[in-house]
Amino acid sequence: MKNKSMLLLLLILIFTSCEQNKEKAPATDMTRNNLTMATLYSHYAQEYKALAYQAFNIAKLRLDEQIKINKNKKLAVIVDIDETVLDNSPYQAYSIAQNTGYPECWNEWCNLAEAKAVPGAVEFLNYAADSGVDVFYVSNRKEKYVAQATLKNLIDVGFPQVVPSHILLRKEKSDENPNPSDKQSRREKIVSQGYEIALLIGDNLGDFYTDEENYSERSAQVEEYQQHFGDKFIVLPNAMYGNWVSALNAYKPEIVDSLIDAAAGGLKETCRK
Ligand SMILES: [Mg+2]
Repeated sequence: MKNKSMLLLLLILIFTSCEQNKEKAPATDMTRNNLTMATLYSHYAQEYKALAYQAFNIAKLRLDEQIKINKNKKLAVIVDIDETVLDNSPYQAYSIAQNTGYPECWNEWCNLAEAKAVPGAVEFLNYAADSGVDVFYVSNRKEKYVAQATLKNLIDVGFPQVVPSHILLRKEKSDENPNPSDKQSRREKIVSQGYEIALLIGDNLGDFYTDEENYSERSAQVEEYQQHFGDKFIVLPNAMYGNWVSALNAYKPEIVDSLIDAAAGGLKETCRK
């Protein structure tokens, strides 16, 4: 009950702050249909919470191993922010309620700095920091619009080492930065400061390596890296959005229909008999 009233309060807050900035949304009923179950799962399912705890419990075991192995090295844990350490399901709920979609009102939501922590994240990152490991937050939130609020949100919920040098957000596209959402150069920047990366934690494959855009190439990459998952790569669940959606081109209704047909395979024929 408490959860529900908090969600309602947040929706009202977002709605109020977005009212002044109303543009025609790109989304349709598709947004509502596609996002609803994923958002309910993220926000309410105890299974979601259990998966998040599981991810950070495994992260702790792996970190302890890394600390033992790398006694004289400067260790870093690199985490993504959205749907890895901060929970933005209220923003998704707002998008469903208003039948809109990203990016409408995203910056306003971030600037409220009201996102809660993903279960287990605060405890794990404080454990890492207390163990002498440096924590870096590498996120595709846009630095130009939401840097201050992101810092405030992370500090407010209790994350450690929230200082500008440990927060690497997405910069504007430029000649020197032609692919601003690719996190590889930011990870390399951390390594160039003498750090050994103990763990990478995220909800999107781009949080671990430069992921391909195409579905079959992404599939091949996951096979290639399979030994790393649950080892140096710790994955959080996010069915609400991510590169997996664009890899399927699933923002288009006709594509969704054909994907569902293909997933059902021959079952339609079997069950008609
Ligand atoms: Mg994320």
